[in-house]
Amino acid sequence: MNILFVYTIQKSIVINKPLAGQEGLQFGISYISSFLKQHNHLTDLIVLDRHRKKANLKVLATTIQTFSPDLICFTSVHSEYDYVTQLAKFVKSRFPEIPLMGGGVHITLNPSEEMLDVFDCICIGEGEHPVLEYLGYLDNKTEAPDIKNLWLKHNGTIIKNNNRPFLKNLDDLPFPDRAIWQRWILEPQTRITILLGRGCPYNCTYCCNHKLRKVAEGKYVRLRSPKNIVDELRTLSILHPQVNEYFLEIETIGSDMIWLGELCERLNRFNSSISNRIKLSTNLRIFPNMDFDSVFQLLKSANFESVTIGLESGSERIRTQILNRVYSNDHILKATSTARKYGIKIGIFNMVGIPTETLDDFSETLTMNQTIKPDWHATSIFFPYQGTKLFEVTNTLGLMPLTLNTRSERQKSVLNLPGFSKRQIQKSFDSFHYEVYKASENRKIHKLLIYFVMKHLGHNFFAELKIKTIALLYQLRLYDIAKKYRLFDVFQK
Ligand code: SF4
Repeated sequence: MNILFVYTIQKSIVINKPLAGQEGLQFGISYISSFLKQHNHLTDLIVLDRHRKKANLKVLATTIQTFSPDLICFTSVHSEYDYVTQLAKFVKSRFPEIPLMGGGVHITLNPSEEMLDVFDCICIGEGEHPVLEYLGYLDNKTEAPDIKNLWLKHNGTIIKNNNRPFLKNLDDLPFPDRAIWQRWILEPQTRITILLGRGCPYNCTYCCNHKLRKVAEGKYVRLRSPKNIVDELRTLSILHPQVNEYFLEIETIGSDMIWLGELCERLNRFNSSISNRIKLSTNLRIFPNMDFDSVFQLLKSANFESVTIGLESGSERIRTQILNRVYSNDHILKATSTARKYGIKIGIFNMVGIPTETLDDFSETLTMNQTIKPDWHATSIFFPYQGTKLFEVTNTLGLMPLTLNTRSERQKSVLNLPGFSKRQIQKSFDSFHYEVYKASENRKIHKLLIYFVMKHLGHNFFAELKIKTIALLYQLRLYDIAKKYRLFDVFQK
């Protein structure tokens, strides 16, 4: 059978190449696609920029006419859901005979019967086996289907099946299907991401993991075997010999030291067998008793060049009481200094505008960043995601705005807090980069200042300008030349 996946993104650079690089691909779709291909089905994918409303409908209709899908699968997080349902309604009105399935984190956390007004079927949790079984049902619709993880319409009634346990062994899955993404990627020779496992051992209140773990029975945190991971890395390195940077995607690399030891040993062996050693990076969530020396020594041995660590808030009250991230600022400082001792670069995740946060709390976040001087930071404004604990807390405290603007999600302040107004949150966020690095010797003050001013004038001015310039150069067929002469360096902060 033919299965079409629909994936949407926030903002693209070039209309027919909406993903900037290899890191833009989404693993949920990729794994389901490879699993279906393994079972002799045919899959295709379209990637749509949510800002290009009319053009998207045309792409969608044309693809459906040429590919003739027997099933169309949509995925979304909270902020994408409204747009995705608009697409699904459009398809239903033009091609009423094609079954539509909805899945992804938002549906998994907030399934409702109303969703079946739009979709013929919704998938709650992991989709590989449910989608495959649904294809079997579509072949012969006579019996009411008991397909675990699916709520579906059958002969005018809604059937809500229970969920199956989490997949036990991730090594049983084929490697994710990266081929379906290639025609949507602007720069194919960029850093590649490999997914190391599923689930997270922690329960941060703003994140979906504490809810996802309750969706099914069985072990939630699952790691692929080191051999399976390195086998995929080897395959990819043959396919993309020019790429020598990989991001090993996992919620935290440090949850199982025995596994980490074996993984690093295999990565090291693999790296020793090739001429151009592969540079690695990953995420690490620290905890109070973590043996930082052992972790970073192992990572160094495998050629990890950088690690991103979540500080989130420099206020220990916010972090422990509101976010459920229990470690002290001293732990963070120890982790970052140990990483540097081993020559590993550090990125820091921060959040601004967290429920109950005050301007003083924010000052602690700033001070921590000024002290650490991370090699980069990924800072965002808190956005309440439906289905998470912190969404409920935001509601209970009466902080939820009447409408949640999802257009500039995590870039525009949405909460007006008693001790930290919406305006102050935005200002703190916009000036954060400047404030963190203004005393750094290796940052150019005029660039920091321009960045700061532009952020105030228009949201993310440099990013917009960069996008427009790249789009123009791409149209003029000058993109590769501009890249060769490092023209885009002028947009560096
Ligand atoms: S450590 Fe990261 S992935 Fe895990 S629950 Fe917290 S925010 Fe989510």
